[in-house]
Amino acid sequence: MGANCQSCGMPLSKDSLGGGSEADGSRSTTYCSLCYEKGEFLHPGFTVEEMQALCVTELKKKGMPAIMAWLFTRGIPKLGRWAT
Ligand SMILES: [Zn+2]
Repeated sequence: MGANCQSCGMPLSKDSLGGGSEADGSRSTTYCSLCYEKGEFLHPGFTVEEMQALCVTELKKKGMPAIMAWLFTRGIPKLGRWAT
C-alpha cells in the first residue's frame, strides 16, 4: 500500500517526478508532485469535490474518456488527505 498519492489517487509510479517534495527537499512517498511541493499542498483550500473536478480535467487532458476519469476520481474521498 501507499503506492498512490493520498490526495488525488494517482499512482506515484506514474508521477514524472516520482512524488511530491518535503520542505527539506526529500521525496514524499505519500503525495504526488501535482498535489504537494516543498512540504505544502499546492491546493491547500481545496474541498474533495474540487480535487475530483481538477483530476477529471487533468485525466481528460491526458486522453482519458470522461466517464473513466469520473470513475477514477470516485475513490478520492477515501484517501488519507480527505478521510477523517
Ligand atoms: Zn496527488
